[in-house]
Amino acid sequence: MTVLVLGSANADLVVAVPRRPGGGETVLGGDTVVMPGGKGANTAVAAGRLGCEVALVGAVGSDQYGTLLRESLAASGVGTSFVRTSDRPTGLAYITVTPDGENSIVVAPGANADVSPSDVDRLEWDGVTVLVCSLEVPLDTVVHAIGAAASRGARPVLNLSPVTPVPASTLALLDPLIVNEHEASSLAGSFEGLLDLGPRSAVVTLGSRGAAVVTASGVVEVPAPAVEPVDTTGAGDAFAGALAARLAAGESLVEAAGYAVRVAAVSVTRPGAQPSYPTPDEVPS
Ligand code: ADP
Repeated sequence: MTVLVLGSANADLVVAVPRRPGGGETVLGGDTVVMPGGKGANTAVAAGRLGCEVALVGAVGSDQYGTLLRESLAASGVGTSFVRTSDRPTGLAYITVTPDGENSIVVAPGANADVSPSDVDRLEWDGVTVLVCSLEVPLDTVVHAIGAAASRGARPVLNLSPVTPVPASTLALLDPLIVNEHEASSLAGSFEGLLDLGPRSAVVTLGSRGAAVVTASGVVEVPAPAVEPVDTTGAGDAFAGALAARLAAGESLVEAAGYAVRVAAVSVTRPGAQPSYPTPDEVPS
């Protein structure tokens, strides 16, 4: 493996409703649509679609949703030998969508809450050049994995989503810290200010405006191609997966971010998260 992705795997259970029910109320919705999701699985699938040698580190339950997730990972070329089958149910996101397009989401973390430092201790690091983490799995596991990656010479990348307080000693190892614009403004007063948190570099995703790469030598803006967005679900995960794939291929951070904004821009032109991720021939040059 050249890239390891530590993070969540969820099944998204999506139902369209005419309006959101109040307390004690029942509303009839459309047919349930089940889709593979979770930040970790999405990120790994994005990298796998691009032809990167990648494995997910995580956990699912011994239920139909765990099978769905394993199959969708494998179909995109993602290794699943570090996806443990937990006693807890597969993580589920219950998503209701109203006609205005707004989502209400309840996440039941299930097996994701069970991903532990001992799962990290079982990893094989031979050939691994990049580790990407996100925070829908326990913080102590992420902290342990980032330390392990750094001590094995792998480059730790953290998508700080959802925003969680992370020890300074962990932040200091990141190259880069990835946040979206909203997360960036909750952490620092400027893009350069993100480096005061300690990472070696930072990348801020800026939606339709692309991304900003922040290093000690300054801020480089990487514009996104203009597209007609259809569904932005999982765009940040597509970005993280593509960035990791290109860093593992030896590109500079600015080059890798340039590719990742194009991959993520393609993903927003198609519905869903994982189904929207492109193969290399679908990425505009
Ligand atoms: P998140 O989904 O985590 O909130 P962003 O909204 O910043 O993150 O989107 C992540 C990436 O997806 C952006 O850096 C960009 O490459 C791409 N993207 C998102 N929205 C658009 C859009 N409307 N047009 C083009 N690219 C987009």
